[in-house]
Amino acid sequence: MKLINSDSQKIGIASTIIPKTEELSEMKKLILERDRLKVGASDLYGKLGQKVYQYYLSGEERMDITEELAALDAINQQIEETMKKVNILNGLIICPKCGAGIPAESKECPYCGYRVHK
Ligand SMILES: [Zn+2]
Repeated sequence: MKLINSDSQKIGIASTIIPKTEELSEMKKLILERDRLKVGASDLYGKLGQKVYQYYLSGEERMDITEELAALDAINQQIEETMKKVNILNGLIICPKCGAGIPAESKECPYCGYRVHK
């Protein structure tokens, strides 16, 4: 019986790896979204690195990486937005100066000292 139990636990773990979106809490959805975005970002960093290295090898005078940089900006902004939502769900607010998640009741940011207006 114990073996059957541990097998069904394993199945339970496996099914949480590929979760059904509708069963997830908002928080889990946001964390998954952030992870997905981070994978996308690191892919972009890789492409950027490759392009820079190819530029170095080619000896060309100009390198156009504006597209990659714009894509990275967009994805980093999405990550930031996602984390803002996570912080809000955690009862935190975002320091307008340093961007840290701080307790909603804070009068000033414990990281940078910014006075949070209420
Ligand atoms: Zn701050």
